[in-house]
Amino acid sequence: MLKLAEPPAPIRTTPMAPSERIAGARAVLCDLDGCLAESNVALPGAAALAQALGERLYIVSNNSTHDPIGLSQELALHGLVVPPHRIVLAGLVTVETIARRRPGARVLIAGSSVLRARAHMLGLTPAARDVDVVLLARDTGFDYTRLEAIVRELGAGAELFATNSDVSHPGRHGRLVPETGCLLAAVRACVSEAPCTVIGKPKPALYEEALRRAGCSPSEAIMVGDNPATDISGALLLGMDAILVGRHPLAEAGGPSELIA
Ligand SMILES: [Mg+2]
Repeated sequence: MLKLAEPPAPIRTTPMAPSERIAGARAVLCDLDGCLAESNVALPGAAALAQALGERLYIVSNNSTHDPIGLSQELALHGLVVPPHRIVLAGLVTVETIARRRPGARVLIAGSSVLRARAHMLGLTPAARDVDVVLLARDTGFDYTRLEAIVRELGAGAELFATNSDVSHPGRHGRLVPETGCLLAAVRACVSEAPCTVIGKPKPALYEEALRRAGCSPSEAIMVGDNPATDISGALLLGMDAILVGRHPLAEAGGPSELIA
């Protein structure tokens, strides 16, 4: 049977300006890197946007290295004030998902100490061998030994979870920061058949968590992002309006300062 390639997610165009659509939304879900900050340093206009949106603003990020408290403190140093309960991060949501689906599991964590601490708190057991689950995040200490351990555990039947599949995110001054997707590609090069549960955008888990905290439905919220393939397509699939910002040719706004009337 002829199999058609999946069409790219449409970029919604409406006659209403981004600032008007944001003004009418009960919750504004906003990506972090490339939208509000670069390497956790606030972009021009981001602090004013956060202040203008107040309790309607939720950061929804594929970040897998920080916890919301640490990230909130780091952003506040640059004038961007968003409290931890309005920051939803792929790393922690992945740990929470594993704790819910595989309670008490032994987990090989390729990621930051923040994820290990959270896993402990939720009753999981971080371990190096004989694990039930492999959690792959942006692991800045990733090396051959770690890859070998992951492949060994997957071969023995461990279940693979990845925080996100982005291959990079924008750093300061146009620098590309390698992301979890690169490490996932290395793992997949060894064990291509291993199924993987990806939690971050464009999958629904992060949007749904932010909507739950905001107490509103997708049609009452709006997503702001700089990545059409993750931020925007994930929001549209849930029935949420979305605004593409940044340097992309189809972007509706260049940066945060264009999002408030
Ligand atoms: Mg981004």
